[in-house]
Amino acid sequence: MLNIGCHLSASAGFSHMLEESLSIGANTFQFFTRNPRGGKAKDIDEKDVKNFLKKWDELSNGKIVAHAPYTLNMCSAQESTREFAKQVFADDLMRMEFVPGNYYNFHPGSHVGQGAEEGIRLICETLNELLFDEMTTTVLLETMAGKGSEVGARFEEIREIIDRTEKESKLGVCLDTCHVFDGGYDIVNNLDGVLEEFDRVIGLDRLKAVHLNDSKNVLASHKDRHEKIGQGNIGLEAMMNVVNHKKLRHLPFILETPNDLDGYRQEIELIKQNRV
Ligand code: FE
Ligand code: FE
Ligand code: ZN
Repeated sequence: MLNIGCHLSASAGFSHMLEESLSIGANTFQFFTRNPRGGKAKDIDEKDVKNFLKKWDELSNGKIVAHAPYTLNMCSAQESTREFAKQVFADDLMRMEFVPGNYYNFHPGSHVGQGAEEGIRLICETLNELLFDEMTTTVLLETMAGKGSEVGARFEEIREIIDRTEKESKLGVCLDTCHVFDGGYDIVNNLDGVLEEFDRVIGLDRLKAVHLNDSKNVLASHKDRHEKIGQGNIGLEAMMNVVNHKKLRHLPFILETPNDLDGYRQEIELIKQNRV
């Protein structure tokens, strides 16, 4: 079964996101846990969550993906920013338990000149403080494009974060196709090679979700600008090789392409037509 969805606005609640997803042929979705710029999260509407979980169970769908705000930076050089990241992350982990057993995806962070090694140390310090045994959520480290001083553009950096996290069983990885391509992994001409490298360095068993995005930029551009599926430098054929790959085809695919809801509906249709 194809598990596909797109990034949606969470402002009208879980049941609404599910309705929207079903209306565009999707069976999963992603949402920001709060304003992407940070800020206070809306209170959880328990009635909405209860209704959603009931319908979700009936559909026996896969996982949904929550995305941390992209201002969250565990390895900032500024202590106040790291402290804010800690508070948001801890709060989000608690809130995620209202929808147990799903994914919480975050950007490892930007080390802003401190070096990747120090960045990784700070990230793991926070993860070691905040991950807890009883949590049912799997936290996903997103592969990054390497824009600026982003940590996590190399598979080795993701590996090191996992290695230095005590509760590593709580960690998984989300592969963003635009990011890895911009980061220099040639998924157009050598998808098998990239996946072999992923498996050797990180382990494919860690891979829990795919962000399905084409790229406005070229291989190794370190830019991170998403494009509609088939309209960027990755192209439809390579995107579909990802969706149809025997090592990936079971994963949830989340579109984060520049689209409104109807654009997403068309994109999902395109992907279904090309699914083999
Ligand atoms: Fe992201
Ligand atoms: Fe992404
Ligand atoms: Zn991106």
